[in-house]
Amino acid sequence: MDYEVVIGLEVHAELATKTKIYCGCSTEFGGDPNTHCCPVCTGMPGALPVLNKKVVEYAVKAGLAMNCEIARDSKQDRKNYFYPDLPKAYQISQFDMPLCENGHVEIEVDGQKKNIGITRIHIEEDAGKLNHDQYGGGALVDLNRACVPLIEIVSEPDIRSAEEAKAYVEKLKSILEYLEVSDCKMQEGSLRADVNLSIRKKGETKFGTRTETKNLNSFRSIVRAIEFEIERQIEAVENGEEIYQETRRWDDDRGIGYAMRTKENADDYRYFPEPDLSLIKLSEDYINNLKDNLPEMPDSRKARYVSELGLPEYDATIITASKKMADFFEGALTVCSNAKSISNWLMGDFTRLLGEKEMEIENVPFSAQDLGELVNLIDSGKISSAIAKKVFEEMFESGKQPKVIVEEKGLVQISDEGAIKEIVLKVLENNPQSIADFKAGKDKALGFLVGQAMKESRGKANPQMLNKMFLEELNK
Ligand code: ADP
Ligand code: MG
Ligand code: ZN
Repeated sequence: MDYEVVIGLEVHAELATKTKIYCGCSTEFGGDPNTHCCPVCTGMPGALPVLNKKVVEYAVKAGLAMNCEIARDSKQDRKNYFYPDLPKAYQISQFDMPLCENGHVEIEVDGQKKNIGITRIHIEEDAGKLNHDQYGGGALVDLNRACVPLIEIVSEPDIRSAEEAKAYVEKLKSILEYLEVSDCKMQEGSLRADVNLSIRKKGETKFGTRTETKNLNSFRSIVRAIEFEIERQIEAVENGEEIYQETRRWDDDRGIGYAMRTKENADDYRYFPEPDLSLIKLSEDYINNLKDNLPEMPDSRKARYVSELGLPEYDATIITASKKMADFFEGALTVCSNAKSISNWLMGDFTRLLGEKEMEIENVPFSAQDLGELVNLIDSGKISSAIAKKVFEEMFESGKQPKVIVEEKGLVQISDEGAIKEIVLKVLENNPQSIADFKAGKDKALGFLVGQAMKESRGKANPQMLNKMFLEELNK
């Protein structure tokens, strides 16, 4: 590769306030079209906006957690453009005096740590939604989302690959979740990214012309859209074509990006100060108070899991990436001290079953403590790991406590010497060939015999005891 990729991201996150940014309407997702609306958010003439304080608080928290400078004075501006989902024909945003500036977040790719600069974070209102297709030929507008508060997080052009872009968005998502300022549900559009991308010959110091691919709302589409655009730009340059500064769309079903329009710049938007809202003035006390009360961030939790619980760095990274996962982990730890085993369950079967059932952690039908109890049942020898897997699947189905499932289904591990011996003798009697193999030095035969015994006991026999007893019998 003779080229270097340069990427800067603009990430929009819907804030988790109960009400909209300039009126008291509900921000709840869904709802019948145009039922979360009033004269302000539908842009009726004469209706006046009132800024929601919580929006400022949430945005400042995000800025502090991303190491930004917080403006003591910041301004809201009108960004003018016409589109049918924008009833006022302008969006209230922030132009030259944003709330937060000059921050950074740390990402890690292949063990390499790197800071990505945050140019600015500003607050703005979301637009409504157009529903195409449904009514042959027409489009209907739903303004429930109009005026829902957003922060836009603009990065410096510091990102150099699709992997770094993904790690960066994952980091933002995790910080916003830990702060509880956004639910970050990408499938509901609560977190979406615009990718600005250019290429340049290696060693070149000037940036190339960038394109902007808008509204990517999954990690998969971010990565695929970037890979597509890198290839497209390289091919164009190799063919002696020019790269135009343009806005592009990504079609995730077809796996292709396409040009939408040539890029507008600030002039086209005719920004000017919003005359109906005053400056946002923040006191030192206000900012310091938010700073002193920030919750623990993912990196610090991760460090704590490694140093206090002895969790491997790898586990700690995965568990703390999502606050809900980390909270679940800590919930299980309240009844069980085997941190590593809990972590294994969470990274393994738990994550797999969530994926298969397309379930969010908050909808899991059993509690974190139940997972801790399951690990206790294994550690105390009550059930085998193999049985535990079955119990765990049942917990996902019925939400019943592991103890109850084990009792109902008679899954308690057989650890009684006499019972184990009975199984061992029976298996030996049925497998003379394996005995001969073992005596001839084929160690594998032992594994086979234990497997047969597990089958015979329908997974309930204690495997350590089986092993020991087989060896005893075979060496007699
Ligand atoms: P706009 O408001 O028109 O979208 P900005 O100057 O705010 O433009 O930049 C938007 C994003 O584009 C930023 O994230 C920035 O890092 C990124 N960016 C700027 N120049 C380049 C470039 N040449 N290649 C890739 N990304 C770029
Ligand atoms: Mg932009
Ligand atoms: Zn409203």
